Amino acid sequence: MPDFLPALTGCFAQPVAENPTVVMMEAAFRHHNLHTRYINMEVSPENLADAVRGAKAQGYLGFNCSLPHKIAVIDHLDGLAPSAAIIGAVNCAVRQPDGRWLGENTDGKGFLESLRPLINPAGQHVVLFGAGGAARAIAVELALAGTTRITLINRNPDRAAPHAARRAPLLPEVVSLPLSHPTTLPPDASIVINATSVGLFPDVSTSLPVTGFLPHMIVADVIPNPPQTAFLNLAAAAGCRTLDGLGMLVNQGALNITYWLGISPDRAIMRAALASVFANP
Ligand code: NDP
Repeated sequence: MPDFLPALTGCFAQPVAENPTVVMMEAAFRHHNLHTRYINMEVSPENLADAVRGAKAQGYLGFNCSLPHKIAVIDHLDGLAPSAAIIGAVNCAVRQPDGRWLGENTDGKGFLESLRPLINPAGQHVVLFGAGGAARAIAVELALAGTTRITLINRNPDRAAPHAARRAPLLPEVVSLPLSHPTTLPPDASIVINATSVGLFPDVSTSLPVTGFLPHMIVADVIPNPPQTAFLNLAAAAGCRTLDGLGMLVNQGALNITYWLGISPDRAIMRAALASVFANP
């Protein structure tokens, strides 16, 4: 008898119609012959509690949370994984074997999975642009991985300062600076990361006003669309090795699947599916 009941996963967000994660997740499910679906669900803040109750009642394996629910969802879960607790945000809720619901944050973990083949973050000086959710997740995972110095640079320094202070107990040194025009990179930085939304489609020709790229620097961008940003072009022109945000997005999606289904999905299949969406917006 065929099985007409798929296992369910998905994403709660508002707006959600333009979130392409579904394409790479379902590509992985098909590739690995998993009878599982990933469904985008438009959920307003007032309906979040009911949406989570609904996911639990319908036997979901878990779900992603995107804006604006990454912090509010914490009140509806039974506990947090260690890095999600430090970050203070959840992008992946996971049903546990005992029925409890655990909040994970895979954004920073996905970034580090992209970074590690190029450089071990332990002992490095990282320049991190941004103080929003993506920057916070990356800063915490870098700290947990043994990065010794993080220079945080943000347009709004008031936002960067408390962000840095909150992370400080984890780190020997966190320096918080406002974004200036231009900002010259400290020459001893080995990793430089754009974790702001500058350069995101459709503003594809815009870059942070950064100078001082040196060939020993690994330069990364969190922007997945376009994968090759103006910021990465500047770094590549200076001889730096670069990392795009598509890799981070694919890796965090793959980690979500691991949490929900216990398998390590094929990242290349997922990346190809997502890249095809960005190539044909
Ligand atoms: P937030 O809104 O939380 O933060 C946005 C950040 O960008 C802030 O630091 C903000 O500075 C800065 N910023 C925005 N506009 C400008 C500007 N014109 N000049 C300088 N700084 C600016 O967003 P998130 O952290 O959630 O997301 C940031 C980016 O990361 C998005 O583009 C998103 O697509 C991407 N992302 C990628 C992921 C991936 O897997 N590849 C995962 C998650 C996010 P200020 O504080 O001064 O406003």
